[in-house]
Amino acid sequence: MNASAIHALARPEVPPLPPYNAGLSSEAVRARYGVSEIARLASNENPYGASPAVASALAGLATRVGTYPDANCTALRAAIGVRTGVAAEAIVIGNGSEDILQMLCQAFLSAGDRVLTQRPAFGLHEIYPRMMGAQVELLALTPELGFDVDAWCEALARGPKIAMLANPSNPVGCMFTAAEMERLLAATPAHTLLVVDEAYYEYARHAEGYPDVLAMLRGRAMPWIVLRTFSKAWGLAGLRVGYGLASDAALVQLLDRVRTPFNVNHAAQAAALAAWGDEAFMQRGVAETVRLRGVLAERLAMLPGLRIAPSATNFLFLDIGRPNAPVNEALLAQGLIVKPWKEPGFEHFIRVSIGTEAENERFAHALAGILAA
Ligand SMILES: *Cc1c(COP(=O)(O)O)cnc(C)c1O
Repeated sequence: MNASAIHALARPEVPPLPPYNAGLSSEAVRARYGVSEIARLASNENPYGASPAVASALAGLATRVGTYPDANCTALRAAIGVRTGVAAEAIVIGNGSEDILQMLCQAFLSAGDRVLTQRPAFGLHEIYPRMMGAQVELLALTPELGFDVDAWCEALARGPKIAMLANPSNPVGCMFTAAEMERLLAATPAHTLLVVDEAYYEYARHAEGYPDVLAMLRGRAMPWIVLRTFSKAWGLAGLRVGYGLASDAALVQLLDRVRTPFNVNHAAQAAALAAWGDEAFMQRGVAETVRLRGVLAERLAMLPGLRIAPSATNFLFLDIGRPNAPVNEALLAQGLIVKPWKEPGFEHFIRVSIGTEAENERFAHALAGILAA
């Protein structure tokens, strides 16, 4: 059977979806470029990994692999509830927060529904709505590479079914301040589901003016969910755990109907619980990354023709002023994996994650050489 015959069988929404751009693996780069030392600066992973408590928690799991995990993530939801002040019944756990994004789209979107998000955005904020046949409106950035608050307020007032708002943004790094968030909330009608994706919350908390959106949303007569993840600051990207803090238990119950029942496996639940119990480890890594982000930004600011978007995250979005593909190739040849943006209009941008001090220095040195050549 050929591809077009198979495509004709699929739901019409599916064949046009872009594949998720997950980038090259370390092994692929090693094999293709013959470099031994790889710096992974493409996926916003945590260079310090997870708390040592995670390894201990995982060590005893071999005897449990024959049983199903807790379908309700009871212990993890309780622990998250205690620290966030959200009732456990209003918390959903996902196989990564992207799993929750998919549940939200499956539970709430029908063909023709309108979804609002940003361009450039986290890919799945656009792909999952389109998978359900929704129309996605993509708002442009300001020339200063920030959110256009007026445009957001206007578009929210038109009442999309879902607004997907990453604060701070991935890939740009910019954020809505508390005052701006107040304006957005005031503009949002009660029939719009507000999804606030705070994948970089633990980093952004250190940025001046970053809103306590949970406090702002509490008690509002509108549906909302705040998404956070163990993949970034908590160092558990490989085990896939994210969580959602929702306005109502009823919202979580709807998500429960569409999620796969055992979506978070034993290892993921045990590791997340252990990591959550060692907040100090996470905070040390975050503080170091925030410090090193400043060091790298200062270093890069000395390169001519480079523009750096303001960032409240563990990455920088760089306008290198020329097509990113050849620069990316030259970086890969030196074992440096970053994310060249491919969307039309952003082919001059690369996103680089903040690594260790040595990795950042290697990147800055390599980029300086490539841009000067
Ligand atoms: C990394 C990221 C996620 C995905 O997190 P997982 O929990 O690993 O699925 C979600 N949203 C944004 C904006 C991200 O950058």
